[in-house]
Amino acid sequence: MNKSKEIIIFDTTLRDGEQAPGCSMTLGEKLKIAHALKDLNVNVIEAGFAAASPGDFESVKAIASEIEGPTICCLARCNEGDIEKAQQALEVSPNGRIHVFVATSEIHLKHKLNMAKDEVIKAAYNGVKMAKEYCENVEFSPEDASRTDHDFLTEVVNAAIEAGATTINIPDTVGYTIPYEFGELFKHLITNCNNAEDVIFSVHCHDDLGLSVANSLAALESGAQQVECTINGIGERAGNTSLEEVCMAIRTRKEYFDFYTSIDSTKLYPTSRLVSTITGMHVPRNKAIVGDNAFSHEAGIHQHGMLRHASTYEIMKPQDVGIGRSNLVLGKHSGRHAFLDRVKELGYELSNEDLDPAFGEFKKLADRKKDIFDSDIEAIVLSADGGTLSTWELIDLETSSGSSWGACAELKLKHFDGSTHEVSTAEQPSSGPIESVFNAIEEITGYNLELTNFEIHSVSVGEDAQGEVTVTVSYEGQDFRGHGISTDIIESGALAYLEVINRIERNRNRH
Ligand SMILES: [Zn+2]
Repeated sequence: MNKSKEIIIFDTTLRDGEQAPGCSMTLGEKLKIAHALKDLNVNVIEAGFAAASPGDFESVKAIASEIEGPTICCLARCNEGDIEKAQQALEVSPNGRIHVFVATSEIHLKHKLNMAKDEVIKAAYNGVKMAKEYCENVEFSPEDASRTDHDFLTEVVNAAIEAGATTINIPDTVGYTIPYEFGELFKHLITNCNNAEDVIFSVHCHDDLGLSVANSLAALESGAQQVECTINGIGERAGNTSLEEVCMAIRTRKEYFDFYTSIDSTKLYPTSRLVSTITGMHVPRNKAIVGDNAFSHEAGIHQHGMLRHASTYEIMKPQDVGIGRSNLVLGKHSGRHAFLDRVKELGYELSNEDLDPAFGEFKKLADRKKDIFDSDIEAIVLSADGGTLSTWELIDLETSSGSSWGACAELKLKHFDGSTHEVSTAEQPSSGPIESVFNAIEEITGYNLELTNFEIHSVSVGEDAQGEVTVTVSYEGQDFRGHGISTDIIESGALAYLEVINRIERNRNRH
């Protein structure tokens, strides 16, 4: 009997995912996600690109020192400066991996690197060799491998293996390849590279043609043993291979692939929600595995079959991916225990400092809203930000608006030094209530922000459902995101805008 093969799950949400426009995260947010990835049981966390900026360096270092269990990986170009930075950031971890890369395709050599082929081979060899002096565990990637001449690619990979690389990652950097073709490339490399059996081949795909998961699976079938992916498939342009999709394909079609992963699939949904809340990148309703509609059956004929036997139309159970939907509704009289139990059942952990404020929010919500659904509880847990001081706090907000004259706001904020500040925009009405609230906030706090995105979503069902507002602003060339939740959408907007300002303040105090 053939023993099934373990596929190594390499998560790059914090590196490639974070590179997506508007997805940049603070150190605290990255740590939150790193903890969730550890609980999900990924094998490798690519924590960042230490040489990219001092902030990136700090976050790789913090993740390396705080997260135990998974291998912590840091990206570096094939030069001494980058590799040293990676080493310094990873020093604290017993399980570090340096990931060096150099572009190999004709197009990149000509237009980006301006290097000859033998120089690239030398760079690959030297880069791996240098990294190897610091770290036993070295991964090498020939960037844009899928558009590289196969014989040349073989030569580059040979050099990396000779220099001591332990993992060879083959990226489809621009999302260009097709499953059959990509599978053949892996077969070619594994057959033709020297000592291929001594290294682990890895696959890294982008979704420009919507083929990243299919291409990754084709590579795994052709001998790759590691897959690089991100939560919700976030990443540059159309994104990366989605971790939840590739893992559930392996799990659901186990008899076909004969692979397994270490992933705790019941944590997929909570982790997806965490990443979408932090990055502000909402998951489409029809997204496979973690979208709101992924497990709902509307068509009558389907519902009929489902009632008789779930397997008629369902290849996975919602519980398998951690969608623990029950009809249990909490309300005004639910106590701390009931709240905490539900939080745990939904797959979330609340730290001690988050617990009291989160329960306080729950009680406040229960006063305003009759039924509290799982999604309401999720929203409270995901926005818990205990232990972090806020500079500004909303005390009171009143708005009025009319179609003939516009809108104005009266706003009262509390500063953390204890002072309260009030302002009314009655003298200068704006075109709408949200705008008047934002103007009032700017007047009190003294900020002048450029709003680049405003989104509003309903958190649960019913007319008294909570509205979640996510705003993105640009301030001194940097993007900041904030979100706010309330049964009153104008208040959600105010809370989101204040969160942005509190973040900017925190950022300032750190530097
Ligand atoms: Zn990539």
